Amino acid sequence: MTDDFEDFFENSIACHVCGSSKVVPPVGNKNSPILIVGDFPVDEDVTTGVPMTGPMGRVLRQELGHLGIDVKQLRRMNLWKHPVNKNPACFKLGTEEVLREAKDRKIILLLGSDVVKLFIGKSVMDLNGLIVESSLYFSCPVFCCINPAICIKEVRGLVKLDLLLLSLQSMYRKIIYD
Ligand SMILES: [Zn+2]
Repeated sequence: MTDDFEDFFENSIACHVCGSSKVVPPVGNKNSPILIVGDFPVDEDVTTGVPMTGPMGRVLRQELGHLGIDVKQLRRMNLWKHPVNKNPACFKLGTEEVLREAKDRKIILLLGSDVVKLFIGKSVMDLNGLIVESSLYFSCPVFCCINPAICIKEVRGLVKLDLLLLSLQSMYRKIIYD
């Protein structure tokens, strides 16, 4: 298990493409069977240097907590290593890092419209709350959901997230205890 704080200092470097110092590197258990990928860091993530500390992270932490899963046990990152810019090379760097991080994982959880569109090729609205069993980029099941900070704005949105996380919990338990 890796500590988020430790990760932060280990990785706190500027983007080597654009020089941005607002880089928010992946955190959490490096060996976790689960990788969670969001779209981009929000201000709170940049301040703390830890992805998913903003509103989205709060919802995720809370809903996973209800299921007895500590989010720190899971690997977490964003597609964009720093706030979105117009540099395609920064985007490419982020994409490559996701694919590198995704290697050997057993479950990928995509949270956001950009990541679902990029890696699955469909609108997140079509796949919200669903599990894609095969995809072009990943060799494990891919769980798709809209940004949890958005989905809590409607009751059904939260239900979909909770049902998806329930499936995730069940698969995660099988992986850990088998
Ligand atoms: Zn950059």
